[in-house]
Parts: sequence; C-alpha cells; structure tokens
Amino acid sequence: MGNLYVLSAPSGAGKTTIAKKLLESVKRLDRAITATTRERRAGEKHGVDYYFMSKEEFEKHIKEGNFLEYAIVYGNYYGTPIWEVERILKEGKDCLLVIDVQGARSVKEKFKDSVLIFVLPPSLEELERRIKSRSHRDKNIEERLKSVEEEIACSRFFDYLVVNEFLDETVDTIRNIILSHRHSREAFLENIQDYVHDERLRYIILNS
Ligand code: 5GP
Repeated sequence: MGNLYVLSAPSGAGKTTIAKKLLESVKRLDRAITATTRERRAGEKHGVDYYFMSKEEFEKHIKEGNFLEYAIVYGNYYGTPIWEVERILKEGKDCLLVIDVQGARSVKEKFKDSVLIFVLPPSLEELERRIKSRSHRDKNIEERLKSVEEEIACSRFFDYLVVNEFLDETVDTIRNIILSHRHSREAFLENIQDYVHDERLRYIILNS
C-alpha cells in the first residue's frame, strides 16, 4: 500500500514547479488532481491542473463525503477528492498532494503515516516580490500576501522543512526525503515485493 506525501508552501514559493520536477524524477509517485472553485487561469486544463467546479457542485461533493479534506483558501474552495487518492494507491503508487497548510493538517490527522513537507522561500522579500509579479494571473494578491506569515507559522506541524533557494537542490532534497522514507524498515517490508525480487531472499527477510 502506498503512502501520502504532502507538499505545502506559501503562494509563490515554487511548489508547482517543484512538484512537476519531482513527478518526473521519482518512480511510483503520482499527484492527486484536486478540485477547486477558483477561476481557471489561462492555460489551465480541467482534469489536468484541477477539477474546476462551481460552488454548488463542490458543496454537493462535500455533502456526499467525496473529499479526503477540503478548505477555503484565499476565498475559494479547494479539496482533495477521495477517488483521486484511491486511484493512485490502487496502482501501487505513492500519492503526492500539493495542498495548503489546513489540508496538510487534516491529512495528517487521518493518516498518521503521511509525510508532510513544507517549502520555505529564501526570504520574505523575495516571496512578496514573486506574489506581486504574478498579479496578472492571481486576483486575490492582497489575500495571498496577508496569509504568508500565518502559513509559514504552520510549518511547525510539518515533518520536513526545505528552503527553496536553488530549484535543483530543493528537488533533490525532497526526492531524498521521499526515498529515505520509502526505505525505512516498516515501509520497505510493506512493499518488499517491489524491492526484492529474489523469492528466497524475501523469505529470509520476512521470516527473520
Ligand atoms: P492556487 O490557486 O495558487 O492554484 O492554489 C492556492 C492554494 O490552494 C495552494 O496553496 C494550493 O496548494 C492549495 N490547494 C490546491 N488544491 C488543494 C486541495 O485540494 N486542498 C487544499 N486544502 N488546498 C489545496
């Protein structure tokens, strides 16, 4: 059974790019496409970047219990559909959730083994500059700026903290966190068939 890895960061800290690079370089890892009621940005595709939904549709899914977690972030609903996580775990993969700090806490409450990774910006100044420079695509800039400190304070609930100064280094570090976790004894034994193909070797390890 796969595990859940949660990646959170304040707006503008670079988590979308990090997630993309991680998915390219870590085997058996897939991102759960989440749902939102926010407006679609230019170039975003339904079912690829998000499941874009009306408020009514989203609230219907809440009522039906279809979300693993959901939260209001910068004035819009965002939520992780259970069907997405199940699809990934059924394929024998680990699931990457790129969600906000509230969602990360909810996931940890439900799944104690989930691994929460928080990405920090190199400085607040740099982060604010990046948020402002994206004003062409994000309508709620003020809200995003206001939330920064609160979001960073939530890093205390996370298992791992990584400063995103140099993108490649950040991706390497997070990749190592995921791989180390997969090779902890408990996780290794749970998925031993993926790592040890020699049946006799497997038998000895499992029966010792
Ligand atoms: P954006 O509007 O910039 O795409 O996302 C805003 C924030 O919502 C980001 O921090 C993003 O990670 C978070 N987010 C995306 N999907 C989910 C989700 O399903 N649940 C929660 N709690 N946050 C989400």
